[in-house]
Parts: sequence; structure tokens; C-alpha cells
Amino acid sequence: MNELIIFMGPPGAGKGTQAKMLCKERNLVQLSTGDMLRSHTKRGTELGIEAKKIMDRGELVSDDIIVGMVRDELSQKPAGEIRVLFDGFPRTTAQAEALDQLLAELNAPLRTVLLLEVNEEEVVQRLLKRAELEGRSDDNEATIRNRMEVYNKQTAPLIAYYESKNLLVKANGMGAIDEIYARLQEALT
Ligand code: AMP
Repeated sequence: MNELIIFMGPPGAGKGTQAKMLCKERNLVQLSTGDMLRSHTKRGTELGIEAKKIMDRGELVSDDIIVGMVRDELSQKPAGEIRVLFDGFPRTTAQAEALDQLLAELNAPLRTVLLLEVNEEEVVQRLLKRAELEGRSDDNEATIRNRMEVYNKQTAPLIAYYESKNLLVKANGMGAIDEIYARLQEALT
């Protein structure tokens, strides 16, 4: 059976960690456009080299490239067996509209859009910590501030977009990993 869930939240909200746990329990594949781009960069593809410059500034890779990657990924899945958690996608209204169209073609409607809510100060602190631990080149303070701004300007409007479609469910993203996970499970029932 199809199951498609969008997982939204500001950078550093802890989406990656929670997404892995949710996917394992619900037998979903995590579709992280950020991970896909980083994999291109690691392999040294042309797309990866271009994307790295954009990611290092904390800006968004073009909608066409992102939507193309997601389309390729989804179209490989057998009909009726699309079980995906979108992590870090869509990030713009254009991407959300393209996803609607793609899912209509695939006859695979969205089940829910989960929004992980955290406060901005907490998010910045978490990202600075992750910068130390993982050494991701887009985790320095200037980039972090820019990514927050990009989120507020370009991605936050999707909250109203999905609210108007009655798909949005909010979960408090503050607290311990297990507590947050329990709230997400609750939000999905
Ligand atoms: P993430 O791992 O989701 O935090 O993404 C890291 C970076 O990859 C972002 O700051 C963007 O530069 C780029 N990126 C990831 N997903 C998208 C997307 N859906 N649209 C545009 N850019 C993206």
C-alpha cells in the first residue's frame, strides 16, 4: 500500500534523526533531497559540484533540478507500493505544486504533512553543535543564519499551503529524542 508523508521543519529541527526512526518503524524509505545532493557531491558529478557551491551558501538548489531528482526516484517504484517519507522536500511552493502534479500522475496521494516545531534559538544552537560533530561545510554560523532566513521566506509558506489542504499536523520538536518521537507517532495516528 502507498504511504507518502512529508516531514517539514526548520533546519536543525532534528528531522533527520526522527525520520530514520519513523521510516524503520513504518517501513518507509527516507527521501532526503539534501542527502541526494551530498551523494552527488561525494561522487564528484557535475550536479554535485554545482550544488555544493549553493549548499555552502545556505541557498536553495533550483526547483527543476530538485523536482527532476524526486521524479526519477519515485518513478522507479512499483505502482501501489510507494512508501516514502520526504525529508527536506518540498522547500518552495513551486516544488509543492510540482509534487502535487507528480503524485496525481502516480495516483499516490499524500497522507500527511508533519511539521516539527522548534524555536529558532534552539535550532541555531543545535546546528552549531552538529557543525562540530559532523564538520558539514554548510554548518557555519553565517550559513546557518542564511538557511533560517531562506526557510522563513521560501519554505514556511508551505505550512499554510498544506493547512489549506487539511494535510498539516504539528508536533512539538522540543525535548528529548524519545519524547519527540512519541509525539510524532501520536500525530500519525
Ligand atoms: P538538508 O540536508 O535538507 O538540510 O539540505 C542541505 C542543503 O541542500 C540545503 O541548504 C539546500 O542548499 C539543498 N537542498 C536540499 N533539499 C533541497 C530542496 N528541496 N530544494 C532546494 N535545495 C535543497
